[in-house]
Amino acid sequence: MKSTPEQILKDIFGYEHFRGPQSEIIEEVMAGRHCLVLMPTGGGKSLCYQIPSLLRDGVGIVISPLIALMQDQVDALQQLGVRASFLNSSQTPDVQRAVLHDIREGNLDLLYVAPERLNQDSTLQLLRTLKIALFAIDEAHCVSQWGHDFRADYLQLSLLEQFFPEVPRIALTATADANTRAEIAERLGLVDARHFVSGFDRPNIQYRITQKQNPRQQLLRFLRREHEKDAGIVYCLSRKKVDDTAAWLEEQGFAAVPYHAGLSAEARQRNQQRFLREDGVIVVATIAFGMGIDKPDVRFIVHLDLPKSLEAYYQETGRAGRDGEPATAWMVYGLQDVIMLRQMMDASQGNDKFKRIERAKLDAMLGLCEITTCRRQALLHYFGETTGDYCGNCDACLNPVPTWDGTQAAQKALSCVYRTGQRFGVNYLIDVLLGADSDKIFQNNHQHISTYGIGKELEGNAWRSVYRQLVARGYLSVDHTTYGGLHLSEKARPLLKGEESIALRIDVQEAVVKTVKKTRSSKQVVADADRALWEALRTCRKQLADEHDVPPYVIFHDASLMDMVHYRPLTEQQFLTISGVGQSKLEKYGQVFMQVIRDHEG
Ligand code: ADP
Ligand code: ZN
Repeated sequence: MKSTPEQILKDIFGYEHFRGPQSEIIEEVMAGRHCLVLMPTGGGKSLCYQIPSLLRDGVGIVISPLIALMQDQVDALQQLGVRASFLNSSQTPDVQRAVLHDIREGNLDLLYVAPERLNQDSTLQLLRTLKIALFAIDEAHCVSQWGHDFRADYLQLSLLEQFFPEVPRIALTATADANTRAEIAERLGLVDARHFVSGFDRPNIQYRITQKQNPRQQLLRFLRREHEKDAGIVYCLSRKKVDDTAAWLEEQGFAAVPYHAGLSAEARQRNQQRFLREDGVIVVATIAFGMGIDKPDVRFIVHLDLPKSLEAYYQETGRAGRDGEPATAWMVYGLQDVIMLRQMMDASQGNDKFKRIERAKLDAMLGLCEITTCRRQALLHYFGETTGDYCGNCDACLNPVPTWDGTQAAQKALSCVYRTGQRFGVNYLIDVLLGADSDKIFQNNHQHISTYGIGKELEGNAWRSVYRQLVARGYLSVDHTTYGGLHLSEKARPLLKGEESIALRIDVQEAVVKTVKKTRSSKQVVADADRALWEALRTCRKQLADEHDVPPYVIFHDASLMDMVHYRPLTEQQFLTISGVGQSKLEKYGQVFMQVIRDHEG
């Protein structure tokens, strides 16, 4: 008797219900039709081709550029009792021969292949002699030259349509925009296929952006309060800052490792491995880290420096919470970030058009930092999606940002720039506004100008905030030839003349941030009374993971352990009701974990 997708979902993967469009997509592929699937990270793309591969005759071929991931994906499938394997250049010839043998014998339901391998004549020849269930093209945006991950090897995939017209092709990506999607459809012969486009929202990620005051202390407080033993990524701009921050976190008692292009390949491999295999490791990294990291239980992403664009921000923060459990995207930023990025961009190579685009992207990023309304709405809007104006899970929604009428302050700040000749940096301008006794001011004879000492009603930090917002919102431009000197932009004129007013955000101080609702990570949902059991289950998982040489989440996701804590299953029947437990996991691990629960109860 043939089973159904629902049965496979339950018996093998241990899940009760399909998510979103999964069921429809599977139906489409089961009927032998092609389709294009756009789903955000963590949306559940894999099941869309894994289940049809198990149900249809022949082997499902999964094309993926992420060689580093294949091992983990195949390990995870084998844990579920699925006959899966992979072929790529990291394997010895002997191992490759063994895999080829398995394919020929029909011993596999799923085969992961790197595109360059697929494009070899010998591979194509072999495939033509086999029964193929489907082709799944993962990370399909790599075929697009518009996209940012273009790979020449992916272009060859148009051969699939030519050589295997009868085999359903399912292209999957998490990359949004319409241009990229059109190009994927074009190149992979999916113009007439159904396109399943899911929303981009990642509701389980909480977005928070805070003013930088003492970034290390702020980070420490954030980690201690909300993510004490969690895995996460901390992004910094420079290699040196990565090294320093990682070392400092270690001193503070966290398991932290650095990752950047300046480290040896072995060191990078070792650090990445620790992140994947151990519980609760923090990677401090430049943007070099992340592509191809598929760890489902990354609980937080920290930005200690501002990303260059919203695309980068969304991609980097998107690495949190792939398992659907609550996660936090937390960033600190300040005036110096804005000035530095603006300068870097102006000084960068490239033609004017390129620079204009870069600048517009940075402006959008700054816009997100400075808005006083829902961050999620702004992010999604940027990617072309409309949503309500209250998400309930970003700092602006949780903790509405108070604003003040900053018109007069802005006028003073701007005219101080003007009166001093449009060439000084923020610190100097603030000194002038406060009427400081400084030699530099006297040398420049600025104690006589009209803005000297007219800003005593605000403190230095408040002026800093005013300048930051004026720069971020484009009233002031930064000059890269004069070490951060500010000058007025066209936009400043109406404000200076009193034809416009401006609302500025009152920067949220740490004390206020405290009221932000804590992220509900699994760990925190565990009541104190249950903590001992939770820890015992984690220890058991870690031992098994080490024994099998796989990451802990390949044994069980956090959500499965959470379920065990809540339901305390003691019979096989009960154990099967745990999310993520199918027949194979029950047989492999049921007894061990139930024993842990029994010991705890006893
Ligand atoms: P994507 O490839 O879209 O980033 P995955 O396929 O890796 O996402 O799925 C993300 C997580 O969600 C995985 O841990 C997966 O096991 C889980 N998942 C997928 N579909 C379901 C479902 N129907 N019910 C419960 N969990 C699911
Ligand atoms: Zn919101």
